[in-house]
Amino acid sequence: MLCSGGLGHLYAVTTNPWEACGQGVGMAARAGAIIADPEFVQFHPTAIDIGKDPAPLATEALRGDGAILVNSKGRRFMLDIHPDGELAPRDVVSRGVFDEVKAGRGAFLDCTKAIGKHFPDMFPTVYASCMAAGIDPVTQPIPVAPAVHYHMGGVLTDGEGRTSIDGLWAAGEVTSTGVHGANRLASNSLLEAVVFAARIAENIKGTLPTPKLTEWGDNAGENDDPVTVEDSPPFKRLRGLMSECVGVVRTREGLLQAIREIAELERVNTRLRFANIITTAKLIAVAALQRTESRGGHFRADCPEERPEWQRRTYLTLAQAERLAAEAAETESA
Ligand SMILES: Cc1cc2nc3c(=O)[nH]c(=O)nc-3n(C[C@H](O)[C@H](O)[C@H](O)COP(=O)(O)OP(=O)(O)OC[C@H]3O[C@@H](n4cnc5c(N)ncnc54)[C@H](O)[C@@H]3O)c2cc1C
Repeated sequence: MLCSGGLGHLYAVTTNPWEACGQGVGMAARAGAIIADPEFVQFHPTAIDIGKDPAPLATEALRGDGAILVNSKGRRFMLDIHPDGELAPRDVVSRGVFDEVKAGRGAFLDCTKAIGKHFPDMFPTVYASCMAAGIDPVTQPIPVAPAVHYHMGGVLTDGEGRTSIDGLWAAGEVTSTGVHGANRLASNSLLEAVVFAARIAENIKGTLPTPKLTEWGDNAGENDDPVTVEDSPPFKRLRGLMSECVGVVRTREGLLQAIREIAELERVNTRLRFANIITTAKLIAVAALQRTESRGGHFRADCPEERPEWQRRTYLTLAQAERLAAEAAETESA
């Protein structure tokens, strides 16, 4: 049973810890499993932008309690974008924040009026993160940026947590059960993990053969210390590339660049763990290139509308992704 979590750490700015870098999706795909909806990556709009990795969260409850988003000129920008302002869906607020940051105006969560002196009691964790960075949210706006938070896509499973590979079940964020559609609602993920884990336990019961001792396969010299991958220049390059080209706002041109550079990283890579990570990145980039529309966590600046012909899930094997990536590269060079 695969339960290796999400993939936020494939991106430069994320709320996810290092362990969540998509190894499970990559492993399953390399073993031939069908991956569903890999292009749907959810960004949290208000990670605290203080250069920490992972980035701490300024919880949505702050906006629920009336905190507003302003730029460095003090202008409240979300009301220009969506009638619900700061309470618009996560992807809409993320793009609003992204645009301000990209334009050099910065984005800040101003809690000074709505929460003010109650901040330390009401939101002690966020308060501690801010104070550790020298920002007092009682009197100062909090600098924020969108950060990868959750992956709606993953290893395709059925209602019993079975994948397309015999004998492989999967649960939690590594899966795509379909429960979250293209844009998960906050707090549904833990519930999903619990429900499907229990169903899998029932489904597996009595089906497993008596375990036999086997030798571990040769790991081709891989150092099992994850830090050696985390700190490596190729991994840093991949994270930058994913944020730049496969991030909050995507374009065909950027996605083609990502696919090209991912292929190059793959060509020179000799590490098993990193091979899984790169595979996941490739699946996301290829699926994002294919989906020529915008929906949920996937936004294409060159196709900004939802399109009825795309009102369906993506199903992708690694072999198909590789064929599509090769075709895209050929079209580009023609
Ligand atoms: C800051 C933050 C706040 C969140 N808040 C909420 C919330 O309020 N409500 C909600 O519903 N969800 C929330 N989520 C999402 C939720 O926490 C995750 O979706 C959920 O924890 C995923 O559970 P999981 O069991 O699938 O994976 P995880 O809990 O991530 O566990 C995966 C495990 O697999 C291990 N692993 C990974 N790769 C390998 C490998 N190759 N070999 C061996 N082990 C491996 C990891 O080390 C880890 O121990 C939040 C997420 C973050 C980051």
